Amino acid sequence: MTPRDAHEPLIEVRDLTVAYPLGGDGSYVVALDSIDFDVREGEFVTILGPSGCGKTTLLNVIAGLVKPTLGAVKMRGEAITKPGPDRAVVFQEHALFPWRTVWNNIRYGIEMQGSDRQADRDARIAEVVKLVGLEGFERAYPRELSGGMQQRVGLARAIVADPRMLLMDEPFGAIDALTREVMRNEIERIILETGKTVVFITHSIDEAILLGDRVVVFSPRPGTIKFEATIDLPRPRYEYDPRAESAFIELREELWDLLVGTSPESSEPDGNDDARAVTTGK
Ligand code: ADP
Ligand code: MG
Repeated sequence: MTPRDAHEPLIEVRDLTVAYPLGGDGSYVVALDSIDFDVREGEFVTILGPSGCGKTTLLNVIAGLVKPTLGAVKMRGEAITKPGPDRAVVFQEHALFPWRTVWNNIRYGIEMQGSDRQADRDARIAEVVKLVGLEGFERAYPRELSGGMQQRVGLARAIVADPRMLLMDEPFGAIDALTREVMRNEIERIILETGKTVVFITHSIDEAILLGDRVVVFSPRPGTIKFEATIDLPRPRYEYDPRAESAFIELREELWDLLVGTSPESSEPDGNDDARAVTTGK
């Protein structure tokens, strides 16, 4: 498979600060502090960072659900002021309707976008059911599905209206480890097939490297970008195991140091930690 195009800036975040008011007494919490962040067309960006550092806030600003306190957020040069059909969010809690079948949960993703013709809708839903591997489960209800299958439904609902961009907030957080491996491979396959641009938040260093064209690491709150690196492992990565490649192992260790402190593999103090922390990547 050829490398995907990742040239045009799709999202431009400039000097973004988000402060949430606290308790109505004039105090506030600064969630993000002067962030600059770009996403190129067709790029898969993964975000790592400690809890509470503002990752979800950044995603919500791009989704149009949270407004910048200061700074600018643009999509193709236009200010983002509200949610739109060009950006779909996939949450950890897939928030499916328990009273709707798989088919009708997915259809909701089109209903939200207004009035397509019924026949076109059905054809499109069938296409997405196939894409995410839910054939045969169209009439099932969410409670009859495993966590991984439910996450497939959430993903199908997000992509059925063909958004330009997927915003994924720890989508595999509630899934067991084995299913998570399967879903990670599925995400890469589906993204390669559809060419979507993705911002993907995760707690897993391995997942961030396995999925991303680029990984971005946030500092603790107030979040700032502490590190970023391009990930040059060939795709599709689900066809081999990049975890054995030296590029993977080196980046993994570097990210581990940034996020957790000195890694078990390098417990000898080398006096280099500060230098690493300010590396800006390639
Ligand atoms: P992350 O996703 O990295 O865990 P969040 O973006 O959810 O971080 O939150 C960043 C900070 O902003 C946290 O301290 C959180 O408590 C605070 N925060 C998030 N949402 C709100 C809100 N709606 N009102 C007040 N504070 C919030
Ligand atoms: Mg979060």
